[in-house]
Amino acid sequence: MKRDVKMTNNSAMPVIDEQLIEKTIEENRNPSLARIDEILTKAAEARGLLPTEIATLIATEDPEHIEKIFTTAKAVKEHIYGRRLVLFAPLYVSNLCTNECAYCAFRAKNRLITRKALSQNEIRREVEFLVDQGHKRLLLLTGETHAKSSFDYLLDSIETVYSVKRGGGEIRRVNVEVAPASVEEFRQLKAAKIGTYICFQETYHHATYAAVHLGGKKRDYDWRVGVFDRAMEGGVDDVGIGVLFGLYDWKFELLAMFQHINHLEARFGVGPHTISVPRMEPATGSDLASRPLHPVSDADFRKIVAILRLAVPYTGIIMSTRESSAMRNETFALGVSQISAGSRTNPGGYSSTELTAADGQFSLGDHRPLDEVIRDVASMGYIPSFCTGCYRLGRTGADFMDLAKPGEIKEHCDPNAVSTFLEYLIDYGSDEAKKIGEAQIQKALTGMTATARVRTEEIIKKVKSGKRDVFC
Ligand code: SF4
Ligand code: SF4
Repeated sequence: MKRDVKMTNNSAMPVIDEQLIEKTIEENRNPSLARIDEILTKAAEARGLLPTEIATLIATEDPEHIEKIFTTAKAVKEHIYGRRLVLFAPLYVSNLCTNECAYCAFRAKNRLITRKALSQNEIRREVEFLVDQGHKRLLLLTGETHAKSSFDYLLDSIETVYSVKRGGGEIRRVNVEVAPASVEEFRQLKAAKIGTYICFQETYHHATYAAVHLGGKKRDYDWRVGVFDRAMEGGVDDVGIGVLFGLYDWKFELLAMFQHINHLEARFGVGPHTISVPRMEPATGSDLASRPLHPVSDADFRKIVAILRLAVPYTGIIMSTRESSAMRNETFALGVSQISAGSRTNPGGYSSTELTAADGQFSLGDHRPLDEVIRDVASMGYIPSFCTGCYRLGRTGADFMDLAKPGEIKEHCDPNAVSTFLEYLIDYGSDEAKKIGEAQIQKALTGMTATARVRTEEIIKKVKSGKRDVFC
C-alpha cells in the first residue's frame, strides 16, 4: 500500500550550514589508517556514513587509504546493485531559458546558439526515434522559464511522450529535470505521471552561487534549495539531487549535499532517489565552462563516486555522457548505477539536423550509439536494464526505501533487468549484442539468489513467448 510522505517538522527550508561544513572538514584532516579502517568496516555493512566519517574519507590523500575506499565501494555496489546498470536517454525539448548561469550554453543572453522549443509533433518524432532504438526511460529536460505557458507546454510534452506506441515499444517512465516548481505544480506533475523529479543546486556555496547565477529566478538560492520540500508536499516523493562539480570545492559540496539529504530524511522520512555527478564541460558561449574555478581531477572524481556509494548505499548514482566511455566504465564498479546512453543535448538532436551539437547544453564525452554502449556494458559483465517496475507498482519514496534498505529490492531488480534486457535483445539488438547479451544473461542467472532466479526464469519464458513489459 502506498505510504503517505511523513512530515516531522514544519521547517520548509533545508539548512545548509556552511560554518559547520568548514568545521567538519577542518576537524577531520589527516586521518590515521586505523580511523579509515574503522569507517570502512561500518561502510561495508551498507549502513551509510555520518558527516564526520564522510569528511574523514574526503580528507585522505594516502594511496593505501584510497585503494581501501575503492575496494569497499566496489563490494557495497556489487552487494546492493549486483551486475545491473539502468540505461536512459535525455530528451531536450526546449533550450529557451530566462536565467543567466555563467557555465551554460542555454543562458538567456547567449546569442551563439539557435533557440528552439520543439513542437509536439517534433517531440513525437524524437520519441519515435528513441523508442526505435529500444529506450524505455527518458529524462525530459528544458531550459528554465517560469511562465504558465511553459509549464503547460511541459505537461503537454510529457503527455506526448507517453502517447507514442511503436509495436511493443514505448516510453514507460518519464523523469523530468526542469525549473523548480511550486507545490501546486508538483501536484500536476504527479498527476502527469512523472517518475523522478531532478534538480541540481549546482553549488551549495552561497557566495559562489551568487557569483555564477547572474540573472533570472535562479538567483534565488532558497527557492531552489527548497524545491524538494515542495515536491514532496506536492506528492512527488522520488527526487534526484546533484551539484555541478567544478564550481566550488568538491569536498564542501559533498558535505553540503549530505546536509540536504539529512534534511529531507528528517522532514519526510525519505532522502533522494538519485544523485547525479556532472563535472563541468565546455559549453558554447561560456568561458567559465572551459575553465572551471575548481576543476575536479579524474582521481578526485573516482573518489567522489566511491564515497557517495558508501555514504548513501541505497541511493542511485547517475552518470551522464559528459564523461568519456573510459571514465564511465571505471566508475560503474565504484558505484554508478544509472547511465544515459546515445545522448544528444540539443533540442531535436535525435531526429533532425536543424540544430547542431554546438547548440547543445554542454559537450559530450561519450558519443556512442545505444547498441554500442549495450555491447560494451554487457561485455564488462553488467546487465543493461530498462526497468521501470517500481514506479509502475507505486514502489516509490519511502515504500522503495523500505524494500531497498534490507536489501530485498535486488530480488526485483535482477529479474526486471533481465526481462528488459532480453526484450531489448529480441526487439532491437544487433547480432553482436544478442550474442554477448544472451551469454551474459546465463551468467547472471547463476549469480542470483534462489528467489530471484525462479522469478527470472519465469520472466524469461514470458518474454521469449512474445509478452512484453513483464516485471515483478
Ligand atoms: Fe538555464 Fe539551466 Fe542553463 Fe541555467 S543551467 S542557463 S537555468 S538551462
Ligand atoms: Fe529500479 Fe525498482 Fe527496477 Fe530495481 S526494480 S531497477 S529499483 S525500478
